[in-house]
Amino acid sequence: MSAVHTLKCARASGVRIGVDGDALTLEADAVPPPAMLELLARHKAQVIALLTRGGDGWSGEDWRAFFEERADISEFDGGLPRDQAEARAFAFCLAEWLNRNPVRSPPGRCFGCGETEHGQVPLLPFGIDTTGHTWLHSRCWPAWHAGRKAEAVAALATFEIHDTRTSP
Ligand SMILES: [Zn+2]
Repeated sequence: MSAVHTLKCARASGVRIGVDGDALTLEADAVPPPAMLELLARHKAQVIALLTRGGDGWSGEDWRAFFEERADISEFDGGLPRDQAEARAFAFCLAEWLNRNPVRSPPGRCFGCGETEHGQVPLLPFGIDTTGHTWLHSRCWPAWHAGRKAEAVAALATFEIHDTRTSP
């Protein structure tokens, strides 16, 4: 059973789950079944990540809610099959993650290769004005961007948000 599913089941059975530092706090009117406690212990780190707000201002559950909402919109309003709706929702999550986790670098030095601007090869500002820019040579951008995407994919995977087209 996954962390997301464990959390859902625990709540459905009346367990209120909170986070205190790096520990989970449980409150329930009746003693939860040992199997559930075992699952919560096994997925502790991930359950904490789902419940705790990250540096980008969203908890794992916020990311999941965003993903579900986007997928629902594409499925019910856009008429897409669920797998396509989820693939589109994943793309939204990816873009949102990159916006919420911007990398700023000072102008004058390429954030990719670390070299300064040389004559014919200008440095270009990537990113949006509100979050600041990353300065890169255009030839250094693809590798840097691929790395950023991989970072986003790994972060979203922690919350069990996957690109259904590339992963099972
Ligand atoms: Zn460069």
